[in-house]
Amino acid sequence: MSLQPVRGTHDLYSDTLLRHEHVIHTSQKVASCYGYQSIATPIFEYSSVFLKTIGDTSDIVGKEMYTFLDRGGEELALRPEGTASVIRAAISLGLTQNLPLKLMYSGPMFRYERPQKGRTRQFHQVGAECIGVAEPLIDAEVIAMAAQILDRLGVLPYTVLNINTLGDAESRASYRQALVEYFSPYKDELSPDSQMRLERNPLRILDSKNVNDQIIVAKAPTFEDFRNQESKDFFGKVLEGLTNLKISYVVNPRLVRGLDYYNHTAFEFVTDHLGAQGTVLAGGRYNGLMKLMGGPDLPGIGWALGVERLAMLLTELPNQTRPITVVSVGDETRDAAFAIAVQLRNQGIPIEFSFTGNVAKQLKRADKANAQYAVLLGTDEISQNMVTLRNLDTGEQTTVAISALSDYLVATSTKL
Ligand code: ATP
Ligand code: MG
Repeated sequence: MSLQPVRGTHDLYSDTLLRHEHVIHTSQKVASCYGYQSIATPIFEYSSVFLKTIGDTSDIVGKEMYTFLDRGGEELALRPEGTASVIRAAISLGLTQNLPLKLMYSGPMFRYERPQKGRTRQFHQVGAECIGVAEPLIDAEVIAMAAQILDRLGVLPYTVLNINTLGDAESRASYRQALVEYFSPYKDELSPDSQMRLERNPLRILDSKNVNDQIIVAKAPTFEDFRNQESKDFFGKVLEGLTNLKISYVVNPRLVRGLDYYNHTAFEFVTDHLGAQGTVLAGGRYNGLMKLMGGPDLPGIGWALGVERLAMLLTELPNQTRPITVVSVGDETRDAAFAIAVQLRNQGIPIEFSFTGNVAKQLKRADKANAQYAVLLGTDEISQNMVTLRNLDTGEQTTVAISALSDYLVATSTKL
């Protein structure tokens, strides 16, 4: 039996997990200010939920999805992303009566990719979806919410917002035609993946990670010349909204998103602090997705952030609550010390307590737990209904009546 977790997966604990949790909690706090409600969908779905929506020329469907037959012969997939599941759930729960519908989620996603820094096979996302609003201002708001999360995490200055428009269906069709004309003469030089894309979804060649493809892509026509007026106006209003919200951005005409269901606005917050895996948050508009899945024809826009990548980018961890240790000075006061520990815990104070060891040992364990104070209880203290309270940072000691102890600790220790 191997004790290693499966390739591309990790056990999360200690500081790493604290960083993850900080990313998730901060995102949830900000999103709830914008009226988003949490939703948790199953981590596996019928494969068709993703096959139908993400697109069969996408990397995800083509080579990254974990699909399997369950014992009942159902074709299932571990979810590779959150949007399709959330839209499915919104339709099946009948949540589309009350619009706009603002949903957020957080949890593990699964993609069979080559593991490397910032790229794992089980990774975590927080995502937000806003359904039922067609106005371009909501695009700006959804992006502003993402920026605010990055700002709260202290990483916004390390990122650049790239934004582009994929236009409406009509604009995309004429751009598609232009791309086929441009790429066809290079067909034999393109990677096998891109050759396949040329026939089925040439837009996706622009997203290729193959270096040689990228050289050819560099001279490809950009979408700008193929957008119809409506698409241009829509994008103009999104950018105006961002400017009004004081969100800086770079228009990147090469930005296309890896999923089929995007149209109009596409955006990514990218950093150069993480090596090749620089996209920390990405999203776009997906009008038509809900209809495609069999629901009402409602517009939508959303994004997902990569928890691992943002956790790596964090420079500071939030202040941790430091515990307090209750130390028995001699075995004969152990029971009384434990009673005090129980009482303090009942009042919500985090306590480190050792059932064995002399004073030095107990204090050593407290030090490891980064305890802030030690409550010392010897027979003298018991006889006077007092404890000795030692500040473990400064060594200063005071005596406090047992009856006043919890109030005293709540008042003096940091972040109880
Ligand atoms: P990439 O181009 O890096 O493969 P993507 O376009 O496939 O990203 P999305 O589907 O947009 O990614 O997912 C949103 C975010 O989730 C990404 O910006 C990234 O931060 C994170 N993410 C995606 N795939 C992985 C992965 N395999 N491991 C860790 N994080 C990931
Ligand atoms: Mg990818």
